[in-house]
Amino acid sequence: MVQLWFLPNIEGKLQLMTDPPECFCGKSAFRTDGYLGVSYDCHEFQNQDAEHVCDFHIHEHAWHQFRRQLLSCKDVNQNDPELNVCPFFNYAYCILFGCANDYPKKFLAAPTCHCHLSATLVGLTDVRSTHKEEEREEDYGYWHERYAFKCPHHNVHVDDSHGARSKCTWSLVAKNTAFTRPKRLLHSNDIDTDLLSLRGWEGLIDKESDD
Ligand SMILES: [Zn+2]
Ligand SMILES: [Zn+2]
Ligand SMILES: [Zn+2]
Ligand SMILES: [Zn+2]
Repeated sequence: MVQLWFLPNIEGKLQLMTDPPECFCGKSAFRTDGYLGVSYDCHEFQNQDAEHVCDFHIHEHAWHQFRRQLLSCKDVNQNDPELNVCPFFNYAYCILFGCANDYPKKFLAAPTCHCHLSATLVGLTDVRSTHKEEEREEDYGYWHERYAFKCPHHNVHVDDSHGARSKCTWSLVAKNTAFTRPKRLLHSNDIDTDLLSLRGWEGLIDKESDD
């Protein structure tokens, strides 16, 4: 069976494109002002003890531009050149709306599957732009499930009679995937140092590494 996908319409996109932005965890995204302007990342970047973050990353300028466009009832274009500025932004945008374009996509270090291999991002290509009531609901996937991280061998044919290799079924919907929290934000300096200064905690920093 061919899996079909339906994409959010203008109203649906506006619901996904909140102001202020929410990360894929559904919480207020973490706002920073870096060298590419204001960007928003997973809220867990604020939490120094957090081990994981989601891979939400958007640029405020483009986000507001897209929202204005949607609010004036004009659909956004998945080939908008703003998405070519940052491959992490393009990744988050494509994951958010289940769309695809030819611009590069990048994500944080991918989790590992059962075989201890770095999972690969798989995007399904059959997309329906409209959802017709008379078609059976179960024949459809939702846009947020269009991208998934899977075992790099997910396409390998497994010959059960020889049992040489058991198929690795490890799979995670990209939007729900947790990544190891990096020490740095993409367009900023050391995140934990930034956080301390943002919170006015400078006085509490251990003077371990005086510069
Ligand atoms: Zn998050
Ligand atoms: Zn960026
Ligand atoms: Zn695997
Ligand atoms: Zn595998």
